[in-house]
Amino acid sequence: MALIVQKYGGTSVGTPERIKSLAQRVARFKAQGHQIVVVVSAMSGETNRLIDLAKKIQEQPDPRELDVVVSTGEQVTIGLVSMALMELGLKAKSYTGPQVKILTDNAFNKARILSIDEQNIRADLANNYVVVVAGFQGVDEEGNITTLGRGGSDTTGVAIAAALRADECQIYTDVDGVYTTDPRLVPEARRLKSVTFEEMLEMASLGSKVLQIRSVEFAGKYKVKLRVLSSFLDDPGEGTLITFEENNKMEQAIISGIAFNRDEAKITVRGVPDKPGIAYQILGPVSDANVDVDMIIQNVSVDGSTDFSFTVHRNEFAKAMDILKTQVQQHIGAREVIGDNRTAKVSVVGVGMRSHVGIASKMFRTLAEEGINIQMISTSEIKISVVIDEKYMELAVRVLHKAFDLDQETA
Ligand code: ADP
Ligand code: ASP
Ligand code: MG
Repeated sequence: MALIVQKYGGTSVGTPERIKSLAQRVARFKAQGHQIVVVVSAMSGETNRLIDLAKKIQEQPDPRELDVVVSTGEQVTIGLVSMALMELGLKAKSYTGPQVKILTDNAFNKARILSIDEQNIRADLANNYVVVVAGFQGVDEEGNITTLGRGGSDTTGVAIAAALRADECQIYTDVDGVYTTDPRLVPEARRLKSVTFEEMLEMASLGSKVLQIRSVEFAGKYKVKLRVLSSFLDDPGEGTLITFEENNKMEQAIISGIAFNRDEAKITVRGVPDKPGIAYQILGPVSDANVDVDMIIQNVSVDGSTDFSFTVHRNEFAKAMDILKTQVQQHIGAREVIGDNRTAKVSVVGVGMRSHVGIASKMFRTLAEEGINIQMISTSEIKISVVIDEKYMELAVRVLHKAFDLDQETA
């Protein structure tokens, strides 16, 4: 007998039929004697619908009230899923995040989980219930409803698994595992049987939305056994297991995957005086406004002045540009502030890079052969990211996927 947390994403609960099929899967696991906690997302499209609705009333929705609105999507699903389980003769009970007491900080729309009170869930499991928990939501110390950011149900699933010390956390979605890149963009992409935790962390943070990054962080911190599987297959097989050990070097692919994201916008402050404190004077006001900065580049100076570039999330591009133009440019005596929000970031990820040289040059050569200009580069031990013009993103992902033989079965 095992304790298993199963998380089902939006498309996996997108219709009454999908919900019934979910219930049947849970019933099969119950019949094998396992204890099951189900964590669900809102039905597909619902969260977007609720956000659009809020924006029709308030162009910039009040963050607290937005969470009140968007958290309702998951509440509908937990009730429906519990009913579907009851129809199969199972005992089932639903909980919203606040009912469980998934305590979060008060950063509305992107709250972090601080603790989970798992006592009631444990008692229900002991009484043979299937417990159904709403993903994506929690409650802060003052009793306000909070949500965990887009894709946050993954994090609820893993956090509940950690709190219960579950034997496994299974993420059921609309693909049958983690692929070498998004299979919707590159049909030749292959499912990875396993991926190391570190690689998954990079892929999630660099744009692969199959797992929310915070769910991967949680899995790493609490050593949760995490698996990604398809909810659309009766027998989903092994899916992809997130592992904590690196495979032996011989069988380790050098590159495991390619991530991409269109959410990056680039800002350049030109003609900045090259003197101490400048980076702080540019980025300080940006970070004070809660805008996250990703890549940063400062050029060598010519005649005492230099250019300073960085990237921000596209949603925060206008805000960052405004801050720089009104608060920074004059203050530091910069020549101009220019921006480009038609950029994309493409990254190759792999722990095998640690023991191989020449990955960067192969990446740059491959892009050069297609005439794709690299605007910014950033590297770590296990990844190389480039910022390029958005219109070349798909091409870049495809040629890199091929160049690194990701379409080939490895030994
Ligand atoms: P859910 O609603 O189940 O949470 P998501 O849409 O959030 O599902 O995540 C699954 C999607 O992630 C897939 O449909 C796929 O298009 C996308 N994706 C991006 N990168 C990858 C990858 N490397 N492997 C698998 N899927 C990926
Ligand atoms: N429903 C939320 C979203 O669409 C959370 C999730 O699906 O993980 O982002
Ligand atoms: Mg998701």
